[in-house]
Amino acid sequence: MPHDLSPLPQGSTIGILGGGQLGRMLSLAASKLGMKTHIYCPDANSPAFEVTPHKTVAAYDDEAALAAFADAVDVITYEFENVPAATAEFLAARKPLRPGANALAISQDRLAEKSFLASKNIPVAPHRAVESLADLEAAIDALGLPAVLKTTRLGYDGKGQRVLRDRADAAAAFAALEPKPLVLEAFIPFDKEISVVVARNTTGEVRAFDAAENVHRDHILFTSTVPADIAPGLEKHAAMLAKVIVVALDYVGVLGVEFFVVPSGERQALVVNEIAPRVHNSGHWTEAVCLTDQFEQHIRAVLGWPLGDPARMADVVMENLVGDEVLTVPTGIDGNTQPHLYGKTEIRAGRKMGHINKITRRS
Ligand code: AMP
Repeated sequence: MPHDLSPLPQGSTIGILGGGQLGRMLSLAASKLGMKTHIYCPDANSPAFEVTPHKTVAAYDDEAALAAFADAVDVITYEFENVPAATAEFLAARKPLRPGANALAISQDRLAEKSFLASKNIPVAPHRAVESLADLEAAIDALGLPAVLKTTRLGYDGKGQRVLRDRADAAAAFAALEPKPLVLEAFIPFDKEISVVVARNTTGEVRAFDAAENVHRDHILFTSTVPADIAPGLEKHAAMLAKVIVVALDYVGVLGVEFFVVPSGERQALVVNEIAPRVHNSGHWTEAVCLTDQFEQHIRAVLGWPLGDPARMADVVMENLVGDEVLTVPTGIDGNTQPHLYGKTEIRAGRKMGHINKITRRS
């Protein structure tokens, strides 16, 4: 069903699937623009529920609850890419779903994502589909070792992947990784990892934030540093690739693109690791130093509003507060450090509890 593309008025209600910290931050940004949010999440203890006027606690396959949710909102978005396809289709038939179901389908499946990117001439790691142990042996023959074996679906924060260094590791890694099918990727000997958060709205306007340089710890994002220590030409190229992706997807909303920066002779080149059809952890720095942050930008895009200027006013290091690191706030931070806590009541090891933005004068 074609939906109206004109800007939604003040006071509209934005439905958000998912009640984690990203949903919470989207809800805060929406209220700043005079909007109401309605958050749909199966978990009654969701951190986003504390900051939204409307909520539904129900499963993602509860059609009665989904229909009532769709009736109650003007536009629907989401904070996580594993929204079931049937849920996305059910909702998209009733209200505008932004980003659209095609962005979900592609980003939920590493193989579909890589095929899509490669079809647009975006560089991705050499890879092979792996449905059987025989496929894996053949893939190792083709790509060599080391290589990274990953599930095609439901992987995040390094879950659902194993680095293979030795052929003898293959059978055990194949047996351990679920769900099948898998994908084997050539190991990319990267110098660093960067990401670009890009936005596109209903009129086709596209704006990208500066690139962030990302460091992971225990497979979880640890810091995002901006500016990234890369050549200006490479940063421009990353933004260009991110823009090509949102245009090719006819995308509406904010999208995160993760890149490997790889040595290429005297220079460096980019390989896309993955895309995320949502606001991104490596874009949390934008709230401290940009004219428009990624959360407001996403809300503007899904409302059909003009995009804001993503210009960066200062240098910044975003640091995730994982587990009991959250207890460093407030006494362990100084006045140039902006804390953002997610209001999660239970501290657990490996759980993202908040982040801080350490702000310095623009270099
Ligand atoms: P992913 O879940 O695909 O984002 O991967 C998590 C992390 O594993 C990445 O941020 C990289 O540090 C590492 N990694 C993933 N794929 C590769 C690869 N093909 N080569 C080298 N490192 C990788």
